[in-house]
Amino acid sequence: MAGFKEVKEEEKSQMVGNVFTNVASNYDLMNDLMSAGLHRLWKDRLVSELNPFPGMKHLDVAGGTGDVAFRILETIKSTKHRALQDVIEDELQEQTQIYVCDINPNMLTVGKNRALEKGLGEDQSLVWVEGDAEALSFGNDSMDGYTIAFGIRNVTHIEKALSEAYRVLKVGGRFLCLELSHVNTPVFKELYDYYSFSIIPAMGELVSGDRESYQYLVESIRRFPSQEKFASMIADAGFQNVEYENLVGGVRRQYSPQSP
Ligand code: SAM
Repeated sequence: MAGFKEVKEEEKSQMVGNVFTNVASNYDLMNDLMSAGLHRLWKDRLVSELNPFPGMKHLDVAGGTGDVAFRILETIKSTKHRALQDVIEDELQEQTQIYVCDINPNMLTVGKNRALEKGLGEDQSLVWVEGDAEALSFGNDSMDGYTIAFGIRNVTHIEKALSEAYRVLKVGGRFLCLELSHVNTPVFKELYDYYSFSIIPAMGELVSGDRESYQYLVESIRRFPSQEKFASMIADAGFQNVEYENLVGGVRRQYSPQSP
């Protein structure tokens, strides 16, 4: 049995801030433990669906540790675009801008340190921005792409974040969201419930001595709207061609809508 403690809207952002400040230093390790490393494959899938290109202006919101942004940048750098002459491709590569926006400075610090470790510390294409998904500091129609991985369920007003995503995207720009969502397959659902409500908080306690933060992460998944409901929220924000894909028995969902 599981019970949800009601959280008032105004308390949620404070609580989310505390949770990610607490988990920041162990976040990568816990991500691997909680998903048995699968989050890496899901992020690869997200980036392959995005199909990044040289010169693109991209915004990764709730980008925390830079995991998605690094993949986008590495894809752009490693893909040879046959249609482009080398000199044009080099010029475009230099214009590429991947903005990593996160509300939590501790998570951004983890990301910046990881960029240093990867030799991307001086890379001008990566821009780290402290900011709120609900009130982005970027101009209208300024981005070719917007991604948010395992972030939107932590935002207090999801509709505001979606409307901000729509505002900053150029016409034809793409919004992609990777999120933990609802499992519908009966036996798998029971296993998943047991794993998420019993094992994950215990693992959190063992690794970081912080059961409560991991309890919150699990409960936030249960509170998140169903796939269909979330798809309709994305469409209500103005996006067209809204699609979603269930990954691993419906544990993860991916949306790849397009703005008009
Ligand atoms: N995207 C990263 C990944 O997949 O590894 C990090 C995901 S982590 C579960 C969620 C992130 O959302 C945290 O870094 C947290 O600080 C950030 N976050 C929560 N609320 C936010 C908001 N309103 N605006 C921007 N970022 C937010």
